[in-house]
Amino acid sequence: MYRTRFAPSPTGYLHLGHAFSALTAAARAEAAGGRFLLRIEDTDRSRCRPDYEAAIYADLAWLGLDWERPVLRQSEHLADYSAALDRLIALGLCYPCRCTRGDIRAALAAPQETGAPGHAEAAVYPGTCRHRAMAERGPGDAIRLDLAKALAAVSDPARLGFRETGIRPGRYTIDPARLLADTGDIVLARKDIGAAAYHIAVVVDDARQEITEVVRGLDLFAATFLHRLLQELLGLPVPDYHHHRLIRDTAGKRLAKRDDARALARYRAEGATPADIRRMVGL
Ligand code: GLU
Repeated sequence: MYRTRFAPSPTGYLHLGHAFSALTAAARAEAAGGRFLLRIEDTDRSRCRPDYEAAIYADLAWLGLDWERPVLRQSEHLADYSAALDRLIALGLCYPCRCTRGDIRAALAAPQETGAPGHAEAAVYPGTCRHRAMAERGPGDAIRLDLAKALAAVSDPARLGFRETGIRPGRYTIDPARLLADTGDIVLARKDIGAAAYHIAVVVDDARQEITEVVRGLDLFAATFLHRLLQELLGLPVPDYHHHRLIRDTAGKRLAKRDDARALARYRAEGATPADIRRMVGL
């Protein structure tokens, strides 16, 4: 049976982009006679707030959506993400990283490192801590995936693929060189909380919720190749993916949570109806 989810993080109020995502997912579930699930991605306790979570439920209900209860809240499953992380560590694919953002910027700005100073934000982690063993992990260290090792740990990474049903439909496979260049050694667990970060939690929970099609924004398209690799390493099932267009503001910029002017709650307070919201996002 078709199962999809909407997986917001309660770090701000839902905006038009979230409405589009949730409405798209729910419509696909309904058309397929399947299920629409909600997942609260609240692993980052420093940024999540209970009032934002309450607003998510209120906004979605106002839009006319319904979802299965109980809702999966990631903060209640941190041990599972740690277990998945431990598995990757046991496979020898992780290392502790003590670099600050400033360290990374400095390493990337050094001409001998990248030859492209000034592009530090877009560049991948330069691998400063890659030589460190997990046994050296200090209390403030993050944990990174050694992507080259992770790719080498699967027999033929270029055969790992997924089916895309969204705006760039087709069958996609991992291009190892491109993943190394575009994604690099991402952080799997942050230093400030012991828990695993987004990438692990998302693959563990898409499996837990038996998601058959992940519906989400095109901004996460590139991350899907990494998710595909993590699924393989962790022995998890592979859903289809449906990446949808992004809702942009009038200047063409993707909406962000801090963009309160576009918050659903604000439109609602100003008298907009759910039908108005649908029109605004082109549904
Ligand atoms: N929690 C993510 C967000 O709010 C969405 C993750 C996903 O759909 O995979 O951007």
